[in-house]
Amino acid sequence: MTLTRRGRAALVLAPLLLVSACGSSGDDATSAEVASEAPLRIVSTVAPITSIVANIVGDRAQITGVVPEGTNSHTFEPPPQISAVMEQADVVFVNGLQLEEPTFELAEENAPEDATIVKVGDEVLPESDYIYDFSFPKEDGKPHPHLWTDPTHAIKYAEVVLKTLVAKDPDNADYYTANHKAFVAKATALSEALTSDQATIPAGGKQLLTYHDAYAYFAKTYGWQVVGAVQPSNFEDPQPKEIARIIDQVRERKVPVIFGSEVFPSAVLEQIAAETGARYEDTLRDDDLPGKPGDPQHSWLGLMRYDYVTMIKGLGGTTKALDALDASDVAPDTADYPQ
Ligand SMILES: [Zn+2]
Repeated sequence: MTLTRRGRAALVLAPLLLVSACGSSGDDATSAEVASEAPLRIVSTVAPITSIVANIVGDRAQITGVVPEGTNSHTFEPPPQISAVMEQADVVFVNGLQLEEPTFELAEENAPEDATIVKVGDEVLPESDYIYDFSFPKEDGKPHPHLWTDPTHAIKYAEVVLKTLVAKDPDNADYYTANHKAFVAKATALSEALTSDQATIPAGGKQLLTYHDAYAYFAKTYGWQVVGAVQPSNFEDPQPKEIARIIDQVRERKVPVIFGSEVFPSAVLEQIAAETGARYEDTLRDDDLPGKPGDPQHSWLGLMRYDYVTMIKGLGGTTKALDALDASDVAPDTADYPQ
């Protein structure tokens, strides 16, 4: 049998633990026991995925996020030192759907042979359901990657994470399974609160004009209409001609609010708002969790509640159910979120 990286690390640790435990050495049974207790090393990419993984993993494994919060995850190039993180990985979770190809390639090149590398989004969505549009044109080959902004897909992400962890670390299967069950219950409650609160938006008002469109799958599931996005597919600010077209569109459709992005601040929204009378909300977030690591709202649940409340209130609805939701994590979040 080949020793896994995890096994090697455990054997290095074992003598130290034995000495402190009983002062004896060479106890093979105890070594084996300790080996099975070496925590998995998990690497993930964007913060919402790190948070979903953390909810299931709790304090039983080590999780390192590698895409800093508040950066453009679509163009993120991992710095060279991330190779060393990948070299230590037992499991790597990436979103897939072409979101973080350079990070995925770095994992493929550097992770140990027996590491499991999972493109979570590719596992849950068949290619026939990929969405392409103005923001993510088919000719560029990159579909909308933001499945996690839709709770029904986030629940599927959690299933993939659970299956992967149980296969890799069967000793903690019961713990992971219980956390998964609790997480699915909270994600389902979030989905129900969203459905209930979005019904308070005046008729015909579930229209999204965003700066950075992270809601294509969400819109499909929850009956919203993405009327456009300000940001072109190259992630630059739009050209004057494009801004003029958007201004016409906002006037024509009587769009009341334009939703900007925390991750992609842009003065263009102010200009469109000034010329059309539409308001702009510039704080939607697609992968930047609210607050700081350790804050109760710094989680996937906190992120999505924040975005839904911002959208629904912005469009004239009320958010009684979302406000009452318990959005706390189901397990201690010990993941490392680079800022
Ligand atoms: Zn995005």
